[in-house]
Amino acid sequence: MDGIQITEPKKLSAISKTENFNAVESSKVIITKAMLLREDFHSYLGDERTLYPIIPARIGIGKISAVSEDSVSGFERGVRVFPHPETPCGKCFECFQGHKENCSSFNIASKNADGFLRDFAVLSNEDISLLPPSVNDYSALFIDHVAVCDKVIDKLQLNKGEYVIIVGGDILGIFLAQVIMYYQGIPILVDNNEKNIQLATRAGVYYTLFADNKLEKNVSELTGARMSKKVVYMTGSNLNTDIALKLAGEYATVCLAGFGTPSLKVNFNIALIKQLNFICVTNGYGNIDSAINLLANGAVDPNLFTIPTVKQSQAIEKIKEMASDINYDAESGMLIVDII
Ligand SMILES: [Zn+2]
Repeated sequence: MDGIQITEPKKLSAISKTENFNAVESSKVIITKAMLLREDFHSYLGDERTLYPIIPARIGIGKISAVSEDSVSGFERGVRVFPHPETPCGKCFECFQGHKENCSSFNIASKNADGFLRDFAVLSNEDISLLPPSVNDYSALFIDHVAVCDKVIDKLQLNKGEYVIIVGGDILGIFLAQVIMYYQGIPILVDNNEKNIQLATRAGVYYTLFADNKLEKNVSELTGARMSKKVVYMTGSNLNTDIALKLAGEYATVCLAGFGTPSLKVNFNIALIKQLNFICVTNGYGNIDSAINLLANGAVDPNLFTIPTVKQSQAIEKIKEMASDINYDAESGMLIVDII
């Protein structure tokens, strides 16, 4: 296997290593496209959660080139697949009990397991999903994003006609707004970044609000002074978590959602006064197939976003160049690499 790895913070190099293809019920997947997210750039710049050396690119898509002889998966050579970015460890108490969705130690691509900036990977058939023809390669790169949004909606138990306040118009926040609309909820998206507000408007989000001193009044008017029973704070935004708590009504549920785990301060004084409930979503595990359906049905529009694309031979140079310029624009910190 040939790929590119982060040897240590701020150091990238080409690597070549042998990967055995003898595990049961597994497939060899030729990676065709990889996508780096902001979390990959954090790993490049130095992140205490990253296990170095590591191959970056949380996201990859590919084609099956061989299937193990014992396989009952029905996978055939040449089919397009999406390898899951998070896989359960298979060793913890929850995994042993069969509750893999509650795994206490997920393998996360590009954090504690190799990502997809490489020419092939040998993967368990449990950890790959087939791509239907209706989901093209570009859209497939966003399956994990949509899976996180779908999981947020499951956990919030969204009802039709219900308001959901989204604090943070990063790419996940904008997709979340689209998925909420698909399920006939009403998103109110809040950000302090003009570009992100414009993107959200282009995404069809009717209520977009600036995070300014009129915000609480504006939300109160929209929701008939009840504020919202459901608020999602996007951990990829740089907004103060107080905003989410202030916009939440009494006994509301506040969800913290995003791939990253930045150090956040939460004002529990407000939480106690309002007796808020908190939930956290940091991966889309368990919602991947549902996300593929949402993309196939056009529930979200990945074409809203313009993501730079390079060939693998230019990847090292481009990652170094981009790492110095990561900001809070929704499109920032993403790079697609064409592997073949
Ligand atoms: Zn586990």
